[in-house]
Amino acid sequence: MKKLTILILASVLSTASNAQKSKDLIYNRYFTGQTMRVDYFHTGTATEEHFCIDRILNDGSWAGSKMVMLDELNLGLYFFKITDTVSEKLIYSRGFASIFGEWQSIGDKGWNTFHESVRFPWPKMPVRLTIEKRDANNNFTAIWSIVIDPKSRIVNPSVLKSKNNVFTYIENGHSADHVDIVILGDGYTASEMDKFHKDVKSLTDELFSVEPFKSRKTDFNVRAVETPSATSGVNKPHPGVFNRTPLSMSYGAFDSERYALAFDNRTIRDIAASVPYDHMFILINERTYGGGGIFNLYSTVAADNKFSRYIFVHEFGHSFAALADEYYTSDVAYQTPAITIEPWEPNVTALLDPDKLKWKELIKTGTPVPTPWGKAEFDTFSYEIQKERRALRAANVPETEMEALFEREKKISLEMFSKNKYRDSTGAFEGGNYMQYGIYRSALDCIMFTRNKQEFCPACAKAISEVIDMYSK
Ligand SMILES: [Zn+2]
Repeated sequence: MKKLTILILASVLSTASNAQKSKDLIYNRYFTGQTMRVDYFHTGTATEEHFCIDRILNDGSWAGSKMVMLDELNLGLYFFKITDTVSEKLIYSRGFASIFGEWQSIGDKGWNTFHESVRFPWPKMPVRLTIEKRDANNNFTAIWSIVIDPKSRIVNPSVLKSKNNVFTYIENGHSADHVDIVILGDGYTASEMDKFHKDVKSLTDELFSVEPFKSRKTDFNVRAVETPSATSGVNKPHPGVFNRTPLSMSYGAFDSERYALAFDNRTIRDIAASVPYDHMFILINERTYGGGGIFNLYSTVAADNKFSRYIFVHEFGHSFAALADEYYTSDVAYQTPAITIEPWEPNVTALLDPDKLKWKELIKTGTPVPTPWGKAEFDTFSYEIQKERRALRAANVPETEMEALFEREKKISLEMFSKNKYRDSTGAFEGGNYMQYGIYRSALDCIMFTRNKQEFCPACAKAISEVIDMYSK
């Protein structure tokens, strides 16, 4: 009996190792050990979009997986594919989001251009790059395609020699089977580099104190790149503080005062490539509450705010695992029509077909779906807080007053939630993704919903684990 078990186990192991070898062969057959970066301009209006190549570069050694070449997670507004032009075989793909896509969603009039990049293993032979976008039914449809010959004169194979100091905070092993995070900093002067190092360490420690990152810490490497700035702090147009810094980080993206993004993608990518990386984070040397996160681009966070630890983990949820915001009473809520299509984000659902709920296997028998949660009381309270928040911002009060408001919000909502029968249950709680009605989240509370607790809901945790798997195999 024992012998039989061993034999079966040996056969399973040998199948697994054959599968590994065949995937290994795909990588070695089609790709070198370098990274190809395609920089392009993404231009358009609210209803059309166009692409134009800027440059095709060598972005250093490949940090991504050599095993998981195809992205099967179905995340992001956009998706890119690399196809071998001879066999038409799909050899690499990834989902992503972009600042252009975000800009389109705010319904701005007129034209705009954003600089973007896609990165993939350096192909040995000509390949076709295809960019797809979700259509009205959330299915990906091709919107742009070009053939890239790696031996062409428009492709630059030389590696940029980084002049920036880099430091490693966490090193657990080879880039290929680890998630490699690069942390950049903006608005730190040369004399504030010790502070940058401290901020990198304390915020990274925070990330790895939250599940599922905590249990998966050994799957990660974390490295940082210094970019000393001439002035301390970054651009803040709303209160009239203007600065120019190496990464061009600025509050007020799309005129939202707390939304901090950097649009100089060309510079940022060159600096990030000082180290091998899969995911990028930018720390802002500021006290003013703010941040942002774009899936597979980067996350940003103001490092000195009372809620920096919360924002850091929350924004990383966006950029790492394409998590939707679960809040809906904030003033960043954009107008959207009635929901007839299931959102693609892993942590929200329109509950159009409860039998196919994304996190159905996590719901215990007996939990009602939708799940009652005292929504009316919470909404009245939360919209009132948002009104106060807008008034404080308009009056340009010191940051301490805003932080006091957030503390009061946290205390009252924690009390409200503590009385709820389903506070620890997985279910379908109405409200999320900037919509008061018709969208549901998996738990009463989550770091993508409130600043109450450093905890991801079960749907978010599941999505994060799947992305970690994709980069650490
Ligand atoms: Zn969540």
